[in-house]
Amino acid sequence: MHRLFVMSVDALFTSNLTDVRRLPGFSQVLERAAMFEDVYAVYPTLTYVCHASIMTGCWPDRHGVPHNQLLDPATGDRVWYWDYGSLRAPTIFDWAKRAGRTCASVGWPVTAAADAIDVNVPEVWVCDPQMMRDELLPQALDEVYRRGCSPAGFSLYERHKDLLVNNATPYLDEFDVACCEEVIEGCRPDVLLTHQAHLDHVRHSCGVDSPQVQDALRFHDSLVQRCIESMRRAGTLDDTVFVILGDHGHLRVDYKICPNVLLARAGLIDLDAGGVPGSWRAYVQSAGVSAQLFARDGRALEEARAALAPLVEDGLVTSVLTREEARRLYHAGGDFALMMEAAPNHAFGADCTGELVCASGSEDYRYAVSTHGHLPSRGPRPPFVVAGPGVEPGRYVGARLVDEAPTLMRLAGIPYDEAALDGTDLFGPGSPAVRVPDWA
Ligand SMILES: [Zn+2]
Repeated sequence: MHRLFVMSVDALFTSNLTDVRRLPGFSQVLERAAMFEDVYAVYPTLTYVCHASIMTGCWPDRHGVPHNQLLDPATGDRVWYWDYGSLRAPTIFDWAKRAGRTCASVGWPVTAAADAIDVNVPEVWVCDPQMMRDELLPQALDEVYRRGCSPAGFSLYERHKDLLVNNATPYLDEFDVACCEEVIEGCRPDVLLTHQAHLDHVRHSCGVDSPQVQDALRFHDSLVQRCIESMRRAGTLDDTVFVILGDHGHLRVDYKICPNVLLARAGLIDLDAGGVPGSWRAYVQSAGVSAQLFARDGRALEEARAALAPLVEDGLVTSVLTREEARRLYHAGGDFALMMEAAPNHAFGADCTGELVCASGSEDYRYAVSTHGHLPSRGPRPPFVVAGPGVEPGRYVGARLVDEAPTLMRLAGIPYDEAALDGTDLFGPGSPAVRVPDWA
């Protein structure tokens, strides 16, 4: 039995391992690690869908989290899949708890109000624009954290909440690591999962490979160092399976496509005087570089297909899959009718009025200058880096996101039922991963 520590660096690419291998924090992990390169993710490649697969070892059609955000056209989908109750498959936390191990989580997606996590500070934030005003924000933060945290997690939040300066990265990551240090040294949990978001934020706002990305990597390195030092002080470092992983790639975006403009023109979406959608018979929810069409009934679906036909004819959309096709090919989850993939340099917006195609913007990560949500075969892919007891260092290819949970549970000595997971232990028989020469 060993301890397990997982740090997810959102939007970390395999190619970034070359950038960070000589930095003081990352180098301490990489020099003794098994490095699984170009991990095959899920569809759509959205953070919450990916993290649900990482922690369950299941594809989206089994774990129950199909998107980052709940479908809510009137508010621009402002509520995210924060709650652990959204999951339909057991997680690493559930298997560990069943085996009598102690669990902690800081900033990990889809963990709010989780019974299985002893010390839980979930990823949650204030989404009501009224409550984001400076004078209201502290109280609103207290409320969302009180609802999402375990009792021990809420007292951690209260001790470190001064770091949540404006409810955004990189302060959120500083807050998370301050909580991690206290958990590592104060509770010495068997399992600790944490999620860092600044790199992803920088790619969305400055560009997929902008110079600021290197600054963000150095920032994340300082956080890796802090966690390593914390484990040294706690005396747990040598007994810890230490993991750094990414969740998805990113693609450059120059143009935003707004399919709801076509649906509104066809009378499938009713708009108020301000152009905000009210009732609808068909609606396209953006998932960044992909999008999902929801239809109330068969007739609405046929009308929507006809209204959206120009997107394919004009080359703005490169693939359209039915729900059944998206399940069969990618194990995609959700109750959508069709799933569309945007052409290179394009992503989807939610607008119901205005131009069908316009410049990418900065108001929403889904159509920022760089985004994700694309097919898992496109663009840069994340790494899965594992160091510690029982790990054979080396380079490997062929891993999938769903293989990470079984691999980590086997290394940490957490028993699980293989039939309940879609993935395979990457070091076991039947592993889809292949070892490649270190010099290749
Ligand atoms: Zn992400």
